[in-house]
Amino acid sequence: MNKNTRSMVIWWLIIAGIVVFGIYQLFNRRDPVYQLATSDFHQYIKQGPDLFDGYLVLDEEWVEGRFRAESLNQIRAEILSTVPPQEQETHLPPKWEGEFRASRDTIDDYDIQAKLDVSEIDYTVKPPSKFSQGWLILGTTIVPLLIFLGLMIFLSRQMQGSGNRALSFGKSRARLHSETQKKITFEDVAGVDEAKEALEEVIEFLKAPKKFERLGGRIPKGVLLMGPPGTGKTMLAQAVAGEAEVPFYSISGSDFVEMFVGVGASRVRDLFETGKKNAPCIIFIDELDAVGRHRGAGIGGGHDEREQTLNQLLVEMQGFDASEGVILIAATNRPDVLDPALLRPGRFDRQIVVDLPDVRGREAILNVHTKEPFKLAEDVNLGILAKATPGFSGADLENMANEAALLAARCDKEHIDMLCFDEAKDRVLMGPERRSLVISDEERRVTAYHEAGHALMLHFVPESDPNYKCTIVPRGRALGVTAKLPLEERHNMSRKRLLAHIIFALGGRVAEEIIFGEQTTGAQNDFEQATSLARRMVTQWGMSHMGPLTFGRRDEQVFLGKELAVHQDYSEKTAIEIDKAVHDIVTECYKKAYDILETNLDGLKLLADALLERETLVTEDIDEILGPRPQLPAQTIV
Ligand code: ADP
Ligand code: MG
Ligand code: ZN
Repeated sequence: MNKNTRSMVIWWLIIAGIVVFGIYQLFNRRDPVYQLATSDFHQYIKQGPDLFDGYLVLDEEWVEGRFRAESLNQIRAEILSTVPPQEQETHLPPKWEGEFRASRDTIDDYDIQAKLDVSEIDYTVKPPSKFSQGWLILGTTIVPLLIFLGLMIFLSRQMQGSGNRALSFGKSRARLHSETQKKITFEDVAGVDEAKEALEEVIEFLKAPKKFERLGGRIPKGVLLMGPPGTGKTMLAQAVAGEAEVPFYSISGSDFVEMFVGVGASRVRDLFETGKKNAPCIIFIDELDAVGRHRGAGIGGGHDEREQTLNQLLVEMQGFDASEGVILIAATNRPDVLDPALLRPGRFDRQIVVDLPDVRGREAILNVHTKEPFKLAEDVNLGILAKATPGFSGADLENMANEAALLAARCDKEHIDMLCFDEAKDRVLMGPERRSLVISDEERRVTAYHEAGHALMLHFVPESDPNYKCTIVPRGRALGVTAKLPLEERHNMSRKRLLAHIIFALGGRVAEEIIFGEQTTGAQNDFEQATSLARRMVTQWGMSHMGPLTFGRRDEQVFLGKELAVHQDYSEKTAIEIDKAVHDIVTECYKKAYDILETNLDGLKLLADALLERETLVTEDIDEILGPRPQLPAQTIV
């Protein structure tokens, strides 16, 4: 039975059960008749046969009968005279119809029949019907059991996620990459040349292991790809499969993690068995951190299952020999949380960093992702786009190219032009434009001067990167954006450059103050950037009068770039000094920004007017309005 028919059968069983139960209820329904208290009924029996009009039936559960009307009225009168008024309601038999029923639950069978006989009252006994008894058993036992069973099966399948694994818990779910899938090769992965080179070696090992062992060398067992998300690790592994022309088993670390203890470990065993059987081959474990986390790191227990899985993985890695032709590749973006045992020689002893691409890498990736069937317009310059997208991962770039194509299609353009790419870039960075946002003229003016202030800083501070684009079209949470164009990739920033960035960040607010004499909330993000840079200049980079020291011990995540916690390892007095140093840097930059704006007030006004009129200005527009950008003297380090 395959997965679909099985779940269909279960559903039908459940539905059938419900229907049967409903029918049973229907058959057993009784018309509403007056329900007599059992003790009262015993009283009535004593009155003798006159009271009953001949209809009295006993079945298993109930006594049903009818009183004679005259006698009934007599009884009513009697009861009315003896029972206190507040209880009359419950003791009075019905007024108009003499029909009643009483439960036999509390009446002893023999007792009631004997009593009826004594009082010479006629009655009939209804034999239990075979039919209804059958239904009764079915309804009360089998049907609920079926429903329960169905639910159990259904739930247990739910718990295991999708797929038919009811009978194959311990099997690894490694998928064999078949030829029918679109083959990914090294050509599709751009800009990660070092990683490719290292993997090239792996492929050679697989093809001719003897060549490398000839001189006594040991072939590495495991290769670990590590790097931020979206840099192409999964893709690289798939490309290895495409290049190596050996079977490629891929599984995700989270596939090992299951509800049931021991399942993960047996999956690992199974995975390696499959690998050994099919050697030479590649086993790829994506997102290794899901299983490979530091043992004993779980707080409050409950991680035994994962530890077992990890232990099994270590055991298996120990147990196989790469010369058999099985090579393990794994990928992770959290190498910091991996159990150190995984990284020891003999395990993942090759570690390849797949980092965010640099300018050339980004250009190459863009090239890959704008190939046919993309139709690029003449004006598209991928080099400039690569420069304007520092910090973008391969996945971001792919996303951007795709957005651009969609935008071009929406505008019914024949080709994807630079405008589309620009818009797509901003979308990926900040979300789509919000042209529908209602902005008052006053607000627009403030935004225009704010952005013009930023742009002016980029233009007149020679150490900073030049302008790229300046716009007052709201986007995401921002009312306007001024972007700069880094001319080259930087791995090292000079103090002057950092100051230039702080000045740039403050420029917006300063312009608002000079023109409107008022402060608005729009500069929060600018201040955050300025403050954080200034603080790091003081505490990490030794760029203040505090001297060349670092302050505060940091727990940083290697690739996420996030600081988890800073431990204060200095005195309160130093803390005060640090705050003062940060403050000094920001104030100094603020003054600088003020000076630049005051001496270029005309430029500021021209720029703001142009923004109000055209909404978006690019480098050339700004240069035209403000004149050529001042140049740095040659050989200045910025
Ligand atoms: P990771 O596994 O590192 O998180 P992926 O391999 O899943 O990243 O990459 C996600 C997508 O991003 C890929 O499908 C691909 O389209 C694109 N991509 C990432 N890096 C590159 C690259 N170096 N060259 C080409 N495309 C890339
Ligand atoms: Mg991945
Ligand atoms: Zn701003």
